Amino acid sequence: MKKLPRIRLAHLPTAIEPLSRLSAYLGGPRLWVKRDDQTGLAFGGNKTRKLEFVLAEAQANGAQTLITVGGVQSNHCRQTAALAARFNLGCILVLNGDPDQSLSGNLLLDHFFGATIVWTTRAQRDAVLEATFRQAWEEGKRPYLVPLGASTPLGAVGYAAAFEECLQQDVVRPDWMIVASSSGGTQAGLVLGARLANWPGKVLGISIDQPVADLQKIVSNLASEASGLLDESQTIQSADIRVNADYLGGGYAVLGDAEVEAIRLFARYEGLLLDPVYTGRAAAGLIDLIRRGFFKADETVLFWHTGGTPALFADSYRAQLSQF
Ligand SMILES: *Cc1c(COP(=O)(O)O)cnc(C)c1O
Repeated sequence: MKKLPRIRLAHLPTAIEPLSRLSAYLGGPRLWVKRDDQTGLAFGGNKTRKLEFVLAEAQANGAQTLITVGGVQSNHCRQTAALAARFNLGCILVLNGDPDQSLSGNLLLDHFFGATIVWTTRAQRDAVLEATFRQAWEEGKRPYLVPLGASTPLGAVGYAAAFEECLQQDVVRPDWMIVASSSGGTQAGLVLGARLANWPGKVLGISIDQPVADLQKIVSNLASEASGLLDESQTIQSADIRVNADYLGGGYAVLGDAEVEAIRLFARYEGLLLDPVYTGRAAAGLIDLIRRGFFKADETVLFWHTGGTPALFADSYRAQLSQF
């Protein structure tokens, strides 16, 4: 794989561990987990790998301020804010949500890292982001815009590299990789990595908040464009992208019974923490697929743990998570 400029900061390679007790309990395929919740930057998560490449570009452009966007409990915003602190950059986060809410979970951490927060609504988010960027530019802050979830072709390259890392570790030879997919960069990188390695297995994205066709299109476009950055120019079609959108529940960041059950099972059987928004939902999908016999009993399934655990401590989820 072509070497692109990259700021090495993640703790890599992340561990690959068996989920033996959970596999036995579910009576399904052999389950393993890739611990990208342990990438080392401020409680870790999948955005760290993307930001290694994005930060290299920002620095090359002479950026002095990172501006990014997300929901109140955005893991991406928390990791970007931590990165900005570490590299002596300013950070402005455009967050959609209630400005009067208490500081908890990721939002509390955003404050620790000294990020400036601009509040908006979901509907106004793009416009406010644009205005925030323009204002920072006019004020001479040399802003660099990190799009939602750092899901740019360059960010996706971080997950093509992650795929390569996983194969090189050679701890497990999975038939399936399962990953939570939302802004698409993570799945795009994995799909591209799989394509470049001629990998015989399947990457399945469990959609967090998007219909199948929309996410397939986003992921395939990102994967194709990322391949161009690597001088590989692969054409990856929508039809090449495996997405399951059966687990959207009450919508983005709405914790339901299925997520609560998944969080409980991973905790009780493996001592492993999932998050309420992404990995809780993806694991709920995985568990349901196992119960429906989607996988063969002798198959091996690798679940990418993409992080997000600080949201377990968001006040908004306390009542439901206290039912354990
Ligand atoms: C952002 C995020 C995802 C989704 O990754 P995308 O690249 O946006 O699809 C999954 N899990 C966690 C914990 C995240 O923060």
